[in-house]
Amino acid sequence: MPTEFLMNPNDHLKNKGKYGEKKDPNELGMIGWVATAYYTVCYFFMNHCFIKFPYHTHGYWSLAGSFLLLTGMLAVDFAVSKTPMKNVERLRANGYNTQVQIGSFVWVWVVSHFGSWLFLNMLCTEMLNTHTEGDWYDWLGAEPVVEASWYAIFGPKTLIYLAILFTAADLGFMPVHEYFLHKTAPHIHHMHHVCVSSSLHSSYVFHALDIVCEFGTPVATATLTHLFILKDPVSYYMWVAASVWWYFMGHDETLKMAHWRHHKYRVQDYSAYWFALFSNN
Ligand SMILES: [Zn+2]
Ligand SMILES: [Zn+2]
Repeated sequence: MPTEFLMNPNDHLKNKGKYGEKKDPNELGMIGWVATAYYTVCYFFMNHCFIKFPYHTHGYWSLAGSFLLLTGMLAVDFAVSKTPMKNVERLRANGYNTQVQIGSFVWVWVVSHFGSWLFLNMLCTEMLNTHTEGDWYDWLGAEPVVEASWYAIFGPKTLIYLAILFTAADLGFMPVHEYFLHKTAPHIHHMHHVCVSSSLHSSYVFHALDIVCEFGTPVATATLTHLFILKDPVSYYMWVAASVWWYFMGHDETLKMAHWRHHKYRVQDYSAYWFALFSNN
């Protein structure tokens, strides 16, 4: 599979997708929605645990738990859909053997989930811990810290700041995705796009440098915006939790978000976050 298709997306717009049929069928039906709901609960639970169990109160439990949780989520993806196995075979046919694929999963976990744990621990754990004594996780040794009210978490300030953080993230992500990964160094982005039909599993199929560019850039621009402009740990935590879900579920074959269509039809939707809402899929 050559890399030219990554550089000339218009060649692939002729018959299908964006200017073709309006809606893609949901082949998985109800079971697909159940799986999508399960992944959603897992992602938010994972980030919730990252903040509830900082490194000094059994944080390694939440780290190890996230790895196990993801392994289980991928097992569900393989169980309910034929897409991940087809992609494993396509990857093998393109020279990415089993070791490379497993290495990719571990590395994506390190960059994205271990990275989220680290950043949440460094930047906002103390501010957000709404834990009070008597919660079920007391037995793990979590210590109650400062409480954040529901209003602080879901109020208008947080929502406006979230919009700013998503914009900052996409302004970092889009040029790197379009000009570096698709035009300058498509060989780096090739492994990920071998997954033409994507599913959750495709979120863990990346060249080592690809995930650093794709995830590291939006995290860097959003984190710098938080550190130097907004300085608000509540919205930053919300952004990490929401963008981890959005970024990885962008490959979900039931939701079929703009990024799913970017894989399937190679349309020019280079946005991962905010601007994807305005793409006229
Ligand atoms: Zn791409
Ligand atoms: Zn992708």
